[in-house]
Amino acid sequence: MIQPDEIRVLYDGFDAPIAGLDCGQKCAPYNASGKPFCCDICHAVPTAYTGEWQYLQANTDLWHEWKAEQCVESEAERLEEVARLEAETPDNMALIECLGPDACQRDYRALTCRQFPFFPYLTSDYRFIGLAYYWEYEQVCWVISNLQVVTDAYRQQFVATFDELFNRMPEEMDSYAAHSEHMRAEYARRRQSIPLLHRDGGVYRVGPSNERLRRAAADRLPKFGPYKIAAALPFPDEL
Ligand code: SF4
Ligand code: SF4
Repeated sequence: MIQPDEIRVLYDGFDAPIAGLDCGQKCAPYNASGKPFCCDICHAVPTAYTGEWQYLQANTDLWHEWKAEQCVESEAERLEEVARLEAETPDNMALIECLGPDACQRDYRALTCRQFPFFPYLTSDYRFIGLAYYWEYEQVCWVISNLQVVTDAYRQQFVATFDELFNRMPEEMDSYAAHSEHMRAEYARRRQSIPLLHRDGGVYRVGPSNERLRRAAADRLPKFGPYKIAAALPFPDEL
C-alpha cells in the first residue's frame, strides 16, 4: 500500500498542467452546471487510494467522503447510486468529493484529478506503453478531442508517476491491464483504433485486435460532440 507520507512526493512529481491553456474554460460552457466536467460530481466521482485518502484528510478540508447527495432525485436513487459505484470501486480506494472548482486547492488535487482524462494503457503482454483516454468522456472532455494540446511535461510526469505506482503497488497493473483489455474489446466492436500518447513521446493509433501501432498526427485524431462541430467552423474558438 502506498503510505500517506509518500503522497506529497507523488503529487509534487505530477503537477504539470495538462496543457498550456485552461482546458476547463473550453468544456465548462457545454456543461449545464457551468463547471468543467471533470470537476462536476454529477459527471465524475474522484477516488483516492487508502493512503492518499489518509493524507488528504490529515492535510486539507477540501475533500469529504462521497455520499451521492447531489444529482439524485430521491433517497432510493441515492442508495442505488452509492451501491453501484461502491461495487465498481476496488477495496483499496475511497470515493471522494471536493468542495467544487471554486474552492479547488491545486496542491491537494487527488491523483485522479491529475490523471484525468487519461489512464495508463497496458498491452496484452503487460507493458505500460502510454496514455489512453477514458472513452466514456469523449463527448464532454475537450482535451480528448484535442490531444495535440497535451504537453510533453505532463506526459512525462504521468508516465513517471505510474511507473512509481506500479513499482509500489504491482496489483494496480492488473486493474489497468483489465481496463485496457476492455478498451480493446470496445474499439474492436466499434471498428476503430485506439488513440495513444506513447511514453516515447509519439502519438499512435493502436489496432484493437492486433495491437499494432501506427504513427498518427494528434490534431487529426477523432473529435467528438460539440468539439467536432466547433472544429468544422471557420473560427472554431468563437463558438
Ligand atoms: S480535462 Fe477535460 S473535462 Fe477536465 S477540464 Fe479539461 S477539458 Fe474539461
Ligand atoms: S479537487 Fe480541484 S481538480 Fe479535483 S475535482 Fe475538485 S475542483 Fe476539480
